Amino acid sequence: MKITDRVYCRIGEQGTSNIGWILGDEYCTVVDTAMTPEETRQDLQAVGETTDKDIRFLINTHYHPDHTFGNMHFSEIIGHSFCYEKLKEMTPFYMEDAKNAQNKERFQEFFIKLPTLTFKERVTIHAEPDIEIIHQGGHTPGSAVVYIPEEKVLFSGDLLFAGYHPYMGDADINQWITALHALLSLEFKAIIPGHGEVCDKEEIKRHITYLQAFLDTMRDLKKKYSKETLLEKPYLLDLPQLGNEERIRRNIDAQYHKI
Ligand SMILES: [Zn+2]
Repeated sequence: MKITDRVYCRIGEQGTSNIGWILGDEYCTVVDTAMTPEETRQDLQAVGETTDKDIRFLINTHYHPDHTFGNMHFSEIIGHSFCYEKLKEMTPFYMEDAKNAQNKERFQEFFIKLPTLTFKERVTIHAEPDIEIIHQGGHTPGSAVVYIPEEKVLFSGDLLFAGYHPYMGDADINQWITALHALLSLEFKAIIPGHGEVCDKEEIKRHITYLQAFLDTMRDLKKKYSKETLLEKPYLLDLPQLGNEERIRRNIDAQYHKI
């Protein structure tokens, strides 16, 4: 999908992860990969249909498998230092999982490639147009967004799940809310979220409301209910109707003792 003359994205079906690419004057930069090497190969074909230029960089917005399991197809990968460390730590587990995956042919010849260039706060690729990669945290400690000021486009990574319940498995919700407020101060026309359809600032506001409600309600419910009870009755959180409802249980499980 074309967002501007220089920015494209591929929106994942049924809320699976999104990817994007930016056409620079001399080379192309890709943002995130699909969940498998095979799907990433298809994405690379789609990129090739929009440009003759080579891909020089892949950016990982964070370490989660549905954004990094196609890394093996790229040579230079930029990621936050936490993304590098965590992906390295998880590699044995992920390789084991991939071997045992139900349709393991999707992971043939699969290996996990780590970021080759890391940063801590922010880094800019002077690709004409400039591509700013800014650390935010929240969804994961190393989560970053990719901002192209000249094109007024933002790739939010998993700070946004447009139309879906956000995944909070290793999230710091307070930091996430702070990050979303920071994004509101940037100037842009379109956001490509980590999951879900292309959106705008309204989606950021909806996420702030959602995350704040999750925090407040969870704090109250914890006074009356055990984690086990909430896992049995996730509807007590009274969250809005969104896709991937099963995530509410996983989020309760991950966040109950953190809040
Ligand atoms: Zn994620």
